[in-house]
Amino acid sequence: MTRPLVKRIDMALHIQELCAVNNITVKYQSLHDETPRYVAYPSTRCITIRPTKNTGYYVSALHEIGHIIGTNQRGSVLTREIWAWVYARQNALVWTETAERIMQRAMGSYRWTQTEKQIWTEQSVTVEQKRLSICNYGWTQREIA
Ligand SMILES: [Zn+2]
Repeated sequence: MTRPLVKRIDMALHIQELCAVNNITVKYQSLHDETPRYVAYPSTRCITIRPTKNTGYYVSALHEIGHIIGTNQRGSVLTREIWAWVYARQNALVWTETAERIMQRAMGSYRWTQTEKQIWTEQSVTVEQKRLSICNYGWTQREIA
């Protein structure tokens, strides 16, 4: 199976666009800081992320955006975390093995349980459906033009 080639610039622009459209203020952490700091402040619609230079940084940024505009962001920490990842995967231009590994590691640090693992599995079905509808939409648009 081939996956679409998504360039770094596409990922960086995607994050900027999502933030602009959703009125989210982005603060970029310096790449000189050794410890990555990804934070979301829903009350002020502000996120701190690293510059989007690889897939890992990209999906982590999407995850923080998910804390601002994703669903189920008023529950327990584990609920908010898993749903911010669901948002990330649903909106990502591409979801790679690296992305999956980063998500697994992050949820592992929160000691996710069977409940969250089940949500992650169940929600992957809707991602496939969504990707399909995006493809169909693009095709229709081109047909019109
Ligand atoms: Zn989080």
